Amino acid sequence: MLPLPAVDSRRGAGQGSRMLNVPSQSFPGPSSQQRVASGGRSKVPLKQGRSLMDWIRLTKSGKDLTGLKGRLIEVTEEELKKHNKKDDCWICIRGFVYNVSPYMEYHPGGEEELMRAAGSDGTDLFDQVHRWVNYESMLKECLVGRMAIKPALPKDYREEKKVLNGMLPKSQVTDTLAREGPSSPSYDWFQTDSLVTIVVYTKQKDINLGSITVDHQGDSFRVETIIKDYSYLIHIGLSHEIQEDFSVQVVENVGKIEIVLKKKESTTWKSLGCPLENHNSLLPKKDTDLYYRKCQLISKEDVTHDTKLFSVMLPPSTHLQVPVGQHVYLKLTIAGTEIVKPYTPVSDSLVPEFKEPVLPNSKYIYFLIKIYPAGLFTPELDLLQIGDYVSVSNPEGSFKISQVQEMEDLFLLAAGTGFTPMVKVLHYALTDIPSLRKVKLMFFNKTEDDIIWRSQLEKLALKDKRFDVEFVLSAPPSEWSGKQGYISPALLSEFLKKSLEKSKVLICICGPTPFTEQGMKLLHDLNFSKDEIHSFTA
Ligand code: FAD
Ligand code: NAD
Repeated sequence: MLPLPAVDSRRGAGQGSRMLNVPSQSFPGPSSQQRVASGGRSKVPLKQGRSLMDWIRLTKSGKDLTGLKGRLIEVTEEELKKHNKKDDCWICIRGFVYNVSPYMEYHPGGEEELMRAAGSDGTDLFDQVHRWVNYESMLKECLVGRMAIKPALPKDYREEKKVLNGMLPKSQVTDTLAREGPSSPSYDWFQTDSLVTIVVYTKQKDINLGSITVDHQGDSFRVETIIKDYSYLIHIGLSHEIQEDFSVQVVENVGKIEIVLKKKESTTWKSLGCPLENHNSLLPKKDTDLYYRKCQLISKEDVTHDTKLFSVMLPPSTHLQVPVGQHVYLKLTIAGTEIVKPYTPVSDSLVPEFKEPVLPNSKYIYFLIKIYPAGLFTPELDLLQIGDYVSVSNPEGSFKISQVQEMEDLFLLAAGTGFTPMVKVLHYALTDIPSLRKVKLMFFNKTEDDIIWRSQLEKLALKDKRFDVEFVLSAPPSEWSGKQGYISPALLSEFLKKSLEKSKVLICICGPTPFTEQGMKLLHDLNFSKDEIHSFTA
């Protein structure tokens, strides 16, 4: 019998891990407005009783889902290949082999998608869809065993793998990655009687406080710096104890980061500590695991009949700033399974004087979240009491601040909670872009009651002449005199009037997938180029 896979033990709260997304139930139904097809993947309608929640229930039923009565075996490649039929389908994911036959009918991507990996290694295929999906957690009751270790590989191949795992000395990492990635970052440290300073030399100019996340949890001290599309990680078990709080500073013009730690005792440290997993590695961001820390729910207030403003507090030993236009993943354990969904942080209000800044410092993250009564994640989130915890990942997203930096006209097309990424983009544009002449938001909702922060938006439009907002309702009451319907060529061509013929324009779009897809098509038909459009997706 083999020991249980490391995935379970690795999955302590706040540890880096790949999570089960929440391919939601039979969601979305064929006509559901919630149809989300991120990454070009389409979800199939699932049969009654085959939702993700039903699957979780089945895994808890004690039924033997592997056919091996709880035994774990070592699986050779030859053996794996044999299990390639729908009713006998094994798939290898990250070195572990699962019998996915019982799961077939519950998979939101459909049987066909699963069968593409039948009898083979499906890791890449699964990662292409949603890299944060925790199939390990979802399929743990289907675990057949571990892949048998292959005979020794040729020397070159082994070395390449080690580089990817960040195990080689710095110089070798540099040589390999410099060809495609940013020039190799490095770090150093020094100390005084009371302080230890870790200095990261990124050799990039566009580094800011949002590029760095620092966490001190248990024995692990972790600094992740995002440099272009790469992640540079310092991961150390510190040699001595430090105080809870630390400071992070960036010298932007040289890309130098300084993290100043306060020693608990004023002894001289002989070393910074011992290297932990992936220490001093530079990896493509897409190949790194999401890292979580537990955050405390501080407040929850109604914004509309179904949307709430949640604020959570980061632990004192975390530095994390979510960059404009990026999202994070929230993780909760629901019925024993880790469930993860993406959410886009907002500011606590649009108009500062509209609300007293009760929680003024950077330790708080705000979310506008719509609660779907029949949803999987949001009802659980809504059940959290003030003081309860939710895990929050590092930020992700393709939006780059450079896209708005020299903007003259900014057009925002938002539908429902697709408004959330617009909040920070709007604020950044109005406060940090000197070239900006106008910002227009066209906000699509079903009814007036669904409009998030309507009075704040109207107030902002009165306060700042550069900003204008238009509400469009898809299910208006008869007395509604404003615009109505879904996104359309007529609405867009009237809305997208530039302030000058040659204005530098950016159009941001976010909402339910059909809304975003139709909008993108219409924008291309109106001859806007790819560089002039940003769509927010997962
Ligand atoms: P789900 O279980 O996904 O269900 C959602 C809806 O679909 C419910 O109405 C449910 O009743 C319905 N449904 C479920 N099953 C079926 C079925 N079989 N047939 C028909 N309908 C069905 N949301 C926010 O509120 N705020 C944000 O800031 C935010 N940011 C996001 C950022 C990104 C990058 C992305 C991709 C999404 C974001 N979302 C945001 C959406 C969020 O991630 C979730 O999708 C949303 O909260 C719903 O999750 P849920 O598990 O509660 O509902
Ligand atoms: P909703 O159902 O309340 O619909 C809001 C508006 O979207 C409607 O009034 C309509 O104008 C438009 N719309 C809906 N279905 C449409 C369709 N089939 N065709 C054309 N237009 C349509 O919206 P909601 O429940 O608030 O959902 C918001 C969506 O935004 C969710 O799917 C969520 O995942 C997505 N979202 C994405 C991000 C991101 O960054 N990618 C961020 C936040 C929200």
